[in-house]
Amino acid sequence: MPVSNIKLLRKEGVAEETMAFHFEKPAGFEYRAGQFGDFTLINPPETDAEGNTRGFSLASAPDDRDLMIATRMRDTAFKRVLKNLPLGAAVKLDAPYGDFTLHKTQTTPAVYLTGGIGITPVRSIIAAATRQKLPHKITLLYANRTAQSAAFTSDLLTFADRNPNFTFVSVVAEGKAPGGKAETGLINRAMLQKYVPDMQAPIYYLSGPAAMVAAMRKILTEAKVNEDNIRTEEFSGY
Ligand SMILES: Cc1cc2nc3c(=O)[nH]c(=O)nc-3n(C[C@H](O)[C@H](O)[C@H](O)COP(=O)(O)OP(=O)(O)OC[C@H]3O[C@@H](n4cnc5c(N)ncnc54)[C@H](O)[C@@H]3O)c2cc1C
Repeated sequence: MPVSNIKLLRKEGVAEETMAFHFEKPAGFEYRAGQFGDFTLINPPETDAEGNTRGFSLASAPDDRDLMIATRMRDTAFKRVLKNLPLGAAVKLDAPYGDFTLHKTQTTPAVYLTGGIGITPVRSIIAAATRQKLPHKITLLYANRTAQSAAFTSDLLTFADRNPNFTFVSVVAEGKAPGGKAETGLINRAMLQKYVPDMQAPIYYLSGPAAMVAAMRKILTEAKVNEDNIRTEEFSGY
């Protein structure tokens, strides 16, 4: 796997306490939508027991000019340093890794059950599928505590507008969800069945904090979904 130093180009807020960071893409660097990289701070001014490296999914699409990651800005040494990193400063990237990528069989639907910052690989996959006009039917149920904590909502609404095969369902625990197809509450079997009437047909992709991924897997196994059709990306540290 190639290791490169990459420069920070831009940073911005993408949801409550959530920031996106754009880095230059090294020449010749290729990855598949849904993969991640290990990002290491170079000579950071502070560190803690968790060290200077974190894994982040690449939220950009592979043919975007730059690389983009997004993260919840918690009060850890790594994230304080990342937040304050000046534009033009470099971090070390070791990538790409992982196989949380869209399956090849175009007639098999994909269902993404995504919590919080688990949206990063899914954003990349749906951006790429939309741009490449892939025929896969893709349904995303994206769960957040509130509308304000949902990242990339406007991107996801744009993909849903442009991609007739993509259904975006925004789910919030409290208040009103943003977007056309909106649900309030937690994702449960009844909510899933409303958007996925034949629950045995798709391949399911679960991503987000470990507790969310476990809860989604429980719903699917109780509905007798074949284990082979459930793929997961657990974000450690949440
Ligand atoms: C394949 C993969 C892809 C990933 N992709 C992403 C991604 O795209 N975006 C992303 O943000 N993360 C992603 N992660 C997780 C990421 O690597 C970090 O683990 C995560 O961001 C937490 O880092 P941290 O610095 O906030 O916490 P750490 O310093 O790593 O602390 C971790 C531990 O401290 C606890 N902790 C720290 N701060 C708090 C707090 N404020 N409240 C409660 N508990 C706390 C955590 O529960 C945990 O036990 C990914 C992980 C993997 C394995």
